[in-house]
This record gives sequence, C-alpha cells and structure tokens, in this order.
Amino acid sequence: MTTFDQTYDVVVVGSGAAGLATALGAADGGLRVLILESTDKWGGNTAMSGGGLWLPNNPLMRRDGVLDSREEALEYLEATVGEAGRASSRARKEAFVDGVDDFVNTTEKYGITWARAADYPDYYPERPGGKIGRGIEVKPLDSKVLGPWYQSLRLIMPLPVMTDDVWEVQRAFSSFAGVKRVARIGSRVIGGLLTGKRLVGIGAALATALQSVVVGKLGADLWLNSPLTALIVEDGKVVGVRATRDGRPVAIGASRGVMLAGGGFDYNREWRQKYHGIDGAPSGNPGNLGGPIAAAEQAGAALELMDDAWWGASIAPLHGEPAAFIVGERALPYSIIVDGRGNRFANEAESYVDLGHNMLRHDKDGTYWLIGESRWLRRYVRSFALAAGKPAELKRAGILARAQSLAQLAEMIGADPATLIATVDRFNGFAKAGVDGDFGRGNSAYDRYYGDPKVSPNPNLGPLEKGPFEAWRIVIGDLGT
Ligand SMILES: Cc1cc2nc3c(=O)[nH]c(=O)nc-3n(C[C@H](O)[C@H](O)[C@H](O)COP(=O)(O)OP(=O)(O)OC[C@H]3O[C@@H](n4cnc5c(N)ncnc54)[C@H](O)[C@@H]3O)c2cc1C
Repeated sequence: MTTFDQTYDVVVVGSGAAGLATALGAADGGLRVLILESTDKWGGNTAMSGGGLWLPNNPLMRRDGVLDSREEALEYLEATVGEAGRASSRARKEAFVDGVDDFVNTTEKYGITWARAADYPDYYPERPGGKIGRGIEVKPLDSKVLGPWYQSLRLIMPLPVMTDDVWEVQRAFSSFAGVKRVARIGSRVIGGLLTGKRLVGIGAALATALQSVVVGKLGADLWLNSPLTALIVEDGKVVGVRATRDGRPVAIGASRGVMLAGGGFDYNREWRQKYHGIDGAPSGNPGNLGGPIAAAEQAGAALELMDDAWWGASIAPLHGEPAAFIVGERALPYSIIVDGRGNRFANEAESYVDLGHNMLRHDKDGTYWLIGESRWLRRYVRSFALAAGKPAELKRAGILARAQSLAQLAEMIGADPATLIATVDRFNGFAKAGVDGDFGRGNSAYDRYYGDPKVSPNPNLGPLEKGPFEAWRIVIGDLGT
C-alpha cells in the first residue's frame, strides 16, 4: 500500500480545456479536485487556440432556431470520422453528442457565457448531416477574474477577438465589411479599457472562463511546475499518481479517479519521428511532451491515433520559434501552394488537417511554397506576414522570396521556372472559369468561408498575373497531436 502525501477525490493531469472541464464536472458533483500542470503556465494549447468548440445540436442553436438533431450529428460523425479504431466507436460518438447539453448547461450554471460562431462551417458541410454554425466559443471576458492567476495564463493573444472576426479582418485593406469588423474589435478593446477590463477572447477566454470557475468558484487546487511522473496502480486499479512538485517527489492519492488530460506529444521529437516520421513544426504549448501518455502506456493502457495529428500548413519557423499556422490566407484568391518543383498538389482552401495529410502523402516534409501576386499582397491582411518577423531576416533564412516575375521567383526558390509558369497558367484558366478542374478549390462552403466574396465567379480563385510575386516557404505544421 502506498503512503500518500495528500489525497483528493480526483486528480486531473493537465490544465487545458480537457482537464479544466473534467475538474468542473467533478467539482460540480461535490468532489475535491487537484489539477497538476507540468509547466510554469496553465492553459496548454487551449489557451493558445482559436477556442472554438464543435458541439453539434447544442442549446445555443436551438435558442437561435437553427435546426440540428442527434441523428444528423451522428450521421455527420459517421460520414467524417467513420471507424478509426476503438477511439471512434459508435458508443463514443453517441456519448459525445449526448453530452453536449449537459456540458453547456453546467458551464452556464456557473456564469460562463457562450456565443455561436454562426458563419463557421463544419469542415465537410456537404457530407450527410453537415451544417454551418455548430461551433460555439466563450464570449470575450475580463481576465481580471483570474486575479494573480492571470500572470501564469499561457496567453499569446491578449485581444477580445472572436472566430467569425477572422475572415472579415483578412479583408480589412480592401472591403468596408473588413474595416467595420476591425472597428468592432477596436470598440470592444476600447470599451474594455474604459470600463477597467482586460478582455480576452478565443482560446484565452475559454481557459480563463473554465479556470476561474474551477479554481476561483469551486475551490479546486491547481499546482504549477508539477509534472505527473507515473500512475500508482494497486490491485489492477489506478489509486493515485506520482508527481514532482517544485522539484520534490510527491505521491497523491485519488480515491475516485485520475484524468489524464496532458495534451499530445507535440514537442517530443523522438516520438514525432517514431509515430509520424517527421520532427514536426508545432504551434502549441512547448510543455506537451506526451509524459502522461507514456505513464498510461506503462500502466498497461492501449494507445490509439498516435499516428495522426491536427496537421496543417505553417510558415517555416525562424530560429526554432513556434511555427505560424496558416488557415484563411491560403484560401484567398490570387495565391496557390506548390511543391519544390512548382506543381500544385491539393486544394489550398481545404481544411487544415486535409491539407496536412495531402502534404504528407505528396512529398512528406519536402519543400512547399505559398505563392501570391500583387493583389494578394495588397488586399489582404496576412497574419503570418505581420507576425513572422522582419522581411530581411526571412529572406536571409530562405523563408521569403519576392520578385517581379514568376520566372525570377522560381529561380529564387529553386523551382523549375517552366513548371511554375505552366502551373500558374493552368490555375489562371481555372480562376477565369471559376472552377478548379484539378482540386475543386472553392467547391465547398468551408473553402468559401475564408474566400473573398467580392471576387467572382469563384471567391477562392483569382489569377496570378501581376508582380510583385511573393513566395513563403511552408512546412507541415500542427495544432497538436
Ligand atoms: C494555435 C492553435 C489554435 C487552435 N485552434 C483550435 C480551435 O479553434 N478549435 C479546436 O477545437 N482546437 C483548436 N486547436 C487545438 C486545441 O487547442 C487542442 O486540441 C486542445 O486545446 C487540447 O486540449 P487539452 O486539454 O487536451 O490539451 P492542452 O490544452 O494542450 O493542455 C494540456 C496541458 O497538460 C500539461 N502537461 C503535459 N504533460 C504533463 C505532465 N506530465 N503533468 C502535468 N501536466 C502536463 C501541458 O503543459 C498543458 O498545459 C488549436 C491549437 C493551437 C495550437
């Protein structure tokens, strides 16, 4: 029998949305909860994320009179996820869909305010059961509710932005709607400042809302710098955990259970090579190293879905910094993605995970470029161009190239000029016809969400004709494993 330093009803490993939601449920049921966080910051990938929750048939849809049903939600899950092993059994899909109301109602009971991302589509809205507007997010809120915990929130975006802001903000240089949307965010910021608030949105809002209820209202303990090191198993049952707290080993009993919510293994190079065959270029929390997964495996747990990730395309990182994940920019007209030779290989506007899979299949972690022409540069706000660093440094690092002609650009990026020019000619023909005959870019409502509605006949297609042209080197990035 282990002698425990302390005992709780439930020990939760990890302080992201999975851990905090578990803690909320347990504490709501009257249980004493401890949350262990390995790093000096809580919130994980969750706090760095877009904070959007895909919750089909949710109460907010019903309040808005938007039709959805359990059957359609399950039909969509079957059509998209299908049978991918034990992790995607019918029972799990049903448990997820059937748990949505309870999750929303319980969080609302504690004052968490949700908003619908009404324009945001399912990633395959045309598949059976697919819809637009199933996502919800926490409304921007005052991070001052956290008190001193604000200092250790894993915050990267201290702004009250919301999901549906993104596609319009992209067009702030070229459309009245885009300017209006920026003004709306500005008025939220100013409104917050005038009322003495420090508003946060998206993932930071989700983490803040959950943590302030769990720790602030329900009194759960949250220990930073306290990684789980092993599960304690007695008579075939997990009865507690071993962890280190500020460098000292501790044994903690968990009379009702342990929840492993320590995220993926985004930054574990050895495992990335073992399971994915590449190093990976993650955008998330450096503390996601897979320790809790290893502890579970050691205790005899079966692992699933280790070979996959929330793949996507990212701008090649400068000096080992987290990679800048790109979503909307690659769906905008007047741009394409090509491989190192200069050939297109996928629908650039498809969901990030599909594009990542296509990159892996096409040339693994080979060379890829996102290429745009003058209108793409002039009309659209490209977040990575703002965030990625100084152009001169990016050019020196071989991440950014700029030229007046496609032939020059091809020379600069090491592609074959004739191939790149032929690719662009073919794409320009598709743009004029409004139909991408190779990869169907713009066919789905998902693609069009990030397109430019002022460009016709296809809001995702615009020809690459006028210099200057820019090429940004992209890599297979991810939002977590
Ligand atoms: C930039 C970005 C944008 C994203 N946008 C979205 C979005 O809009 N919608 C969406 O659904 N998904 C999005 N994702 C993915 C999403 O954020 C994650 O899938 C989700 O937050 C994972 O939640 P989690 O609680 O499982 O893990 P995390 O939030 O990563 O939390 C895990 C925590 O466990 C801690 N931990 C690790 N090892 C240990 C250990 N040994 N002991 C104790 N603690 C440990 C970690 O430090 C971390 O704090 C995004 C991700 C990123 C990076």
